[in-house]
Amino acid sequence: MKRTGVFYHDVCGKEAYSSLAMGVEAGFQSIRKEGLFSQPNVTWFESEPATEEQIARLHSREWIDHVKQTQWWRVSLYSVGGMIGATEKVLTGEIDNALVIAGVGGHHAHRDSAWGGCYFSVIGLGIPHARAKSLGKRFAIVDTDTHHADGVRDLYQNDEDVLHICFCDAFSGIYNADDRMESKTKFCFPHGSSDEEEIGNVVREVPGRIKEFKPELIFWLCGMDTHQDSYGTAALTENAYPGLAKIIKQTADEYCGGRLIVKTCCNAPPHATSYAIPRIVDCLAELGKY
Ligand SMILES: [Zn+2]
Ligand SMILES: [Zn+2]
Repeated sequence: MKRTGVFYHDVCGKEAYSSLAMGVEAGFQSIRKEGLFSQPNVTWFESEPATEEQIARLHSREWIDHVKQTQWWRVSLYSVGGMIGATEKVLTGEIDNALVIAGVGGHHAHRDSAWGGCYFSVIGLGIPHARAKSLGKRFAIVDTDTHHADGVRDLYQNDEDVLHICFCDAFSGIYNADDRMESKTKFCFPHGSSDEEEIGNVVREVPGRIKEFKPELIFWLCGMDTHQDSYGTAALTENAYPGLAKIIKQTADEYCGGRLIVKTCCNAPPHATSYAIPRIVDCLAELGKY
């Protein structure tokens, strides 16, 4: 069995950007209700707030000062802090893999601007932290949220040690893989219109590229706005997320020592997140409960 960490702070549930991240608290509480924290290999680590120095590794001082004036400052700090804690614990080997439950998005955050419920690059900030501590250099980011990860793509555009595989509609109508590739480490692929098609797309596009790239850690942005009751593609049921988790975890186990961090801001209604989140933890920790 794998040692799995869940990173969450109550601020992320209580102060979530709730018009998008509507299922945060229900998602976390469902892990508890399902009794998964009583398993010896599943541990809740209360997320600590990120420091301004950590955030300044990717964002401008002006943007940090701007976010500080908003109601999303505290929840942003705890969301990024959860990612930084998870990155450090997975790369030092204290745990094998992790789930980070954030109260805000992150993939639309650029160096000095952001949109769509994003303020700072939550996954993006894990990378300079790992590098600053000499814990890793090469990373893969798999993004299955509905929308194009314009912020992450912008921040890592010229970094060939970051493989970015984004499922989105940025190149809709273009199905030739070469035409959907911005460079040999930056790709976009279309979403599926059903659970089977979405999972099939990930099976086709992700494991082979991870195998070839050889990252030290995979970050998976498990966007849930693809759920049929959310505001994105509205194509998937709650069963899709544990299905995607299985493929991506298997890929991490085969090609990067199992090192995997799943980030979600639970951007689907509570009934969907409270079904999917415990099943993702079950998959990560190899509990076999469901
Ligand atoms: Zn989205
Ligand atoms: Zn994209």
